[in-house]
Amino acid sequence: MNDQKVAINWAQTAASIHFETRSFIHGDFVSVTGSDSFKTINPATEEPLALLTDPDSALVEQAVTSARSAFKTWRHLSPDKRKSVLLIIADRIQAERNSLALLDCLEMGMPISMALEQVDEAANFLRYNAELVDKVYGEIAPSDAATTLALSQAEPRGVIGVISPWNFPLLTALLAIAPALAAGNCVVVKPSEQSPSSVLKLAEIAVEAGLPAGVLNVIPGLGITTGRALASHHDINKLHFTGSTQVGRQLMVYAGQSNGKPVMLELGGKSPQIVFQDAADLPNLGQALAQAAFYNSGQICVAKTRLLVHESCYDTIVEKIKAETQTVFRMGNPLDEQTTFGPISSRKQFERVNHYLSLGKESGAALHKIKTAGNKPGKGYFVQPVLFDGVDNQSRLAQEEIFGPILSMMRFKTEAEAIQLANGVSYGLAATVWTKDLGRARRFSRDLEAGEITINATTQPATSVWPALSVEPFGDSGHGVLAGRRGLEPYQRTKAVQMVTD
Ligand code: NAD
Repeated sequence: MNDQKVAINWAQTAASIHFETRSFIHGDFVSVTGSDSFKTINPATEEPLALLTDPDSALVEQAVTSARSAFKTWRHLSPDKRKSVLLIIADRIQAERNSLALLDCLEMGMPISMALEQVDEAANFLRYNAELVDKVYGEIAPSDAATTLALSQAEPRGVIGVISPWNFPLLTALLAIAPALAAGNCVVVKPSEQSPSSVLKLAEIAVEAGLPAGVLNVIPGLGITTGRALASHHDINKLHFTGSTQVGRQLMVYAGQSNGKPVMLELGGKSPQIVFQDAADLPNLGQALAQAAFYNSGQICVAKTRLLVHESCYDTIVEKIKAETQTVFRMGNPLDEQTTFGPISSRKQFERVNHYLSLGKESGAALHKIKTAGNKPGKGYFVQPVLFDGVDNQSRLAQEEIFGPILSMMRFKTEAEAIQLANGVSYGLAATVWTKDLGRARRFSRDLEAGEITINATTQPATSVWPALSVEPFGDSGHGVLAGRRGLEPYQRTKAVQMVTD
């Protein structure tokens, strides 16, 4: 059998790709009516891709009603059947890998090679959650065994509203959809208005794979209207939000003003990476530090955008990053498989990143332009990565999430000072420590206020491990357990049942 990879002409495939402009409700695409509209734009070319209508409130109502009616069937499907449908969907995601990746690549500028990896991660995450379906048990509580049976049982919550961001459109939506469906809930998703297509395609794939109509509904729309309507809806039992801290807090207000639904928040970050002198000679350290800060052009919630370095190796580390970034990042057309560094996702975000660049320049911190391989294309919202050295940890550059390729560097003398700097922001999503000292690794993993700690690795050590690791953010980065076996719990309610049998 010839298993040679067939080269894909991505530009040609992109030219004929279809962008869905309808919503997906009760197992099918439905036309959208509304008075407002919005465009999706390719950030690599600045060209419009599609024009969508912001749905009126009747469509949100229709989506929630559809999910509510499907809940009766989906929650009672036997665990093996629910698991099997979800596993088939994961296989179909894999089968549609190219088209799903291409949609994310075109709508948010993520390089195609990265977008393909993200589809694999999404399928993997769904498989992990599908496998949990028939492995979750309730509890029998201590009671008078002669007369009483006391049970603590987990049940699905009902209809889950999911509001997701643009930075990893398919994966971030699935991080909520997968455990919600696995736990027996039905879902209404409002994807980001910048990049709704891969989530719409996911819903279509899911129904083709056997998911009953209404279990997964997708309504692309604007945050302030459609997102708000979903978050304020009285028949949504729980909200999962991934996005900025500011909007996350607003959603808690909507929830409080409506039915008091619980809100799970996966928000922004300003994560540190800390380098000790004993790790400065680790091979490819400069590459790893650059990867952690500049992956997806810095548009990732766990971007390690504050680099704290021991004073004894500070200058060495600056040089390593400058020398090694070009070995991992090639700037260019996202449709080229060699590209690993794409544009910023929108004009608005591009202007925001440039604003922080100006703030950095005005702050007096030393600016180092970091070279990538490849070249900046003629059009598109491309920003060359930069490193500001000697940044004040109290400055806006160090405190605020930028979501672009800007790395702020600071020096420290002692462990205590490193911990203080690392924890000295309002966020607490992730942190990395580079050290060969096991005692220090243990102390930092205990004292760092972040949900995900890595020692001598940029992200979780292997992608095959990460769906199994549960994580919960600190502070302004949100709350609620994501992934792992415990990742189903936010989508379940616990019911106590006491039966007097004699
Ligand atoms: P955003 O908060 O602007 O938007 C996120 C979603 O909320 C979008 O779908 C948007 O339409 C919607 N929205 C906006 N205003 C709304 C409102 N008033 N009511 C209801 N919905 C509203 O975030 P973004 O710019 O799309 O994404 C970037 C942010 O997401 C960053 O802060 C990043 O750190 C965060 N993020 C966090 C994680 C995580 O797991 N912690 C993962 C990815 C992204």
